Amino acid sequence: MNLLVVGSGGREHALAWRLAQSPRVQTVFVAPGNGGTAHDPRLRNVVLPELADGYTPAALEALADFAEREKVGFTVVGPETPLAAGIVNLFRARGLKIFGPSKEAAQLESSKDFAKAFMKRHGIPTADYATFTVAADAHAYLDSKGAPIVVKADGLAAGKGVVVAQTLEEAHAAVDAMLADNQLGDAGARVVIEEFLTGEEASFIVMVDGKHILALASSQDHKRLLDGDAGPNTGGMGAYSPAPVVTPQLHARVIREIIQPTVRGMEADGIRYTGFLYAGLMIDAQGNPKTLEFNCRMGDPETQPIMMRLKGDFSKVIEQAIAGQLNDVELSWDRRTALGVVVAARGYPDAPRKGDLVGGIPEETEAAVTFHAGTELVNGRLLTSGGRVLCVVGLSDSVRGAQSIVYDAINQIAFDGMQYRRDIGYRALNRKH
Ligand code: ATP
Repeated sequence: MNLLVVGSGGREHALAWRLAQSPRVQTVFVAPGNGGTAHDPRLRNVVLPELADGYTPAALEALADFAEREKVGFTVVGPETPLAAGIVNLFRARGLKIFGPSKEAAQLESSKDFAKAFMKRHGIPTADYATFTVAADAHAYLDSKGAPIVVKADGLAAGKGVVVAQTLEEAHAAVDAMLADNQLGDAGARVVIEEFLTGEEASFIVMVDGKHILALASSQDHKRLLDGDAGPNTGGMGAYSPAPVVTPQLHARVIREIIQPTVRGMEADGIRYTGFLYAGLMIDAQGNPKTLEFNCRMGDPETQPIMMRLKGDFSKVIEQAIAGQLNDVELSWDRRTALGVVVAARGYPDAPRKGDLVGGIPEETEAAVTFHAGTELVNGRLLTSGGRVLCVVGLSDSVRGAQSIVYDAINQIAFDGMQYRRDIGYRALNRKH
């Protein structure tokens, strides 16, 4: 059987890498893929000219044509944009098997106003909020609430749509940028203003088949660019799994109070949820979880350590999910910790430089894998092509052990301007000492 993974990041490399280990899978096509998926003999990048302009309607049709032509067993979608654009609706309409949420279900991520109203309606714990389209109303609301406070663009803004404002000045400026100056375009034409929450974040990812829920291993991302969670927000600078903050008790609560009501609530609202569902959690000092956001796909970089720990035939799991039989599946996990560190390009996240020659990537071993994101193979040379370039994942009995595997590997890698955090996993270490 041949499979198709849609996307080009580290998440998609990790998904394709894991799927390719299934004995019944011959080739995993990755569209459009990256330098790492181009290099791996079990994977094959798909070059479709229609994909050059992103996930346009023509690109989605071209992907469906490809899946049909190549008799792809099923398709898995990595990023949110094609999901929000309706790739699942299109594939289903053409009788092609695909795992992901429909365009309607993907609104949980593609509209923060939709997600907040949904959570409120179904009693799912989240920060208090109000939604605005008129700048003057938003400014008045900010003044009535005070800082710190969080301003979020309603639509998809590639991680740039959230301003955690420590002062009212920053909050007013964010509202002006989105509502008055239209800096995020349509994504910022509607703004959610949200109560500031404190605590520890965790990523809670499950698979949903419309009815049944199957939880993946817990994980924790590191959103800020610099050590100690300083510097600007990024797409994520590293992640590890399991996240000890998610105790078995908390796990059960999150399923009961957040995940189940979400899946049932969507069904009650007439939308069947299928696909990965990611709840970004804030866990307060008393251990109570609130939902910061939903994503309708797996996280990047959380996928990379999660895929390192997942045992068994992942292609079968996805097939059962597509068939609505997740109740028959039990996942098994490597007991060790997997820890992934993102190596980013010079200038990331504001203006990442492209075209730098990448060298020294170590051979894959059972305990260390380098997943590619912003890389491309040009005439046999591996060049940087995006902000987050690589994610090196190590597997070990301890967080410290995994860190040392990863940082030893990163020491062998070289490209001009490479930057990475030295403290991925620090919360888990603080907890244990
Ligand atoms: P992603 O790119 O991960 O999908 P996003 O752009 O959709 O993120 P959110 O996840 O909603 O945005 O927020 C980004 C980050 O901002 C969160 O990980 C968290 O650190 C912070 N944040 C969001 N909402 C709040 C809040 N209410 N209180 C405190 N911090 C928050």
